Amino acid sequence: MIETKIFSGVEVASSVYAELKPRIQKLLKRKITPGLAAILVGEDPSSKLYVQNKSKRFQSLGLYSQIFYLPTSTTFDNIVNKISELNLDHNFHGILVQQPLPKDVDLGEILESINPKKDVDGFHPENMGLLASGINHFIPCTPKGIIRIFKHYKIQTSGKNTVIIGRSNIVGRPLSLLLSSKSSFGNSTVTICHSKTKDLASITKQADILIASVGVPNLIKGNMIKEDSIIIDVGITRVNDNSKKGYSLIGDVDIKSVMGIANAVTPVPGGVGPMTIAMLVENTIEAAEWYGDSVKEKS
Ligand code: NAP
Repeated sequence: MIETKIFSGVEVASSVYAELKPRIQKLLKRKITPGLAAILVGEDPSSKLYVQNKSKRFQSLGLYSQIFYLPTSTTFDNIVNKISELNLDHNFHGILVQQPLPKDVDLGEILESINPKKDVDGFHPENMGLLASGINHFIPCTPKGIIRIFKHYKIQTSGKNTVIIGRSNIVGRPLSLLLSSKSSFGNSTVTICHSKTKDLASITKQADILIASVGVPNLIKGNMIKEDSIIIDVGITRVNDNSKKGYSLIGDVDIKSVMGIANAVTPVPGGVGPMTIAMLVENTIEAAEWYGDSVKEKS
């Protein structure tokens, strides 16, 4: 029986923060405090929690962060006006709009209104296009965080059969571009599955690396995976229960059933989630460094 390892996102994230410390100090010496503006529309409790966790992390690192709360009834124009204001505000080097947005708001147009140089989530079509052409500007945080987990635990992706379940613009699609790219943490043979995929298990069983970003609790069972494979669980679903909090966060992978079969698995919580925040911090620091360099060039 295989002794399945747990790949801790908390451990990898803390090594990222340690690496970022000197870069933060250098910026602070130049009187630049990396700043993040987060826009939250509506009252969704999970979104609120995610945004607040991001903001807390920024503050704990001595960085600046502000959340702009807009009501559910806010108009498309109000959101775009707020973004236009933040695009010009030198206190903010990064801007993010927490998803999901209310259904009647055109997400594509909202994302397009963010200055691509402040698009620390990497969702602007310009940054997505650069990623598709193999030029990395801002890489979306969750895919970037997964690659960082591979680097930390020395997982080779080259030549591996990698199966990604989920084709979202924030995880599955950009991750497929990164892992299939001609680069040190690419060169994988990537298959993307989605809700129309037939006989999912027959495909997941071929995966040396399996990444699930679906949002269906415990979808992946031990009998659906290849022996000695690496399993990355992106899914987080809030399921109500009798616990003190009143809910638990459940991943896409039934972790108990993959233990003893997989080589390694990321837990939920404490796996990919902390890496998404760490990469948001890294992207914001990068944005602040570009800002600093552009000011220097002009003076
Ligand atoms: P999403 O937009 O919610 O879409 C889900 C994807 O899963 C779609 O591509 C869908 O197929 C596919 N799918 C649904 N049911 C399926 C099934 N039974 N079999 C195979 N594929 C199926 O995706 P997302 O935004 O990437 O989010 C997915 C999950 O990851 C959610 O739980 C979310 O909360 C979590 N998440 C976590 C983090 C983190 O930091 N840990 C970051 C982002 C997201 P179709 O395209 O055909 O509809």
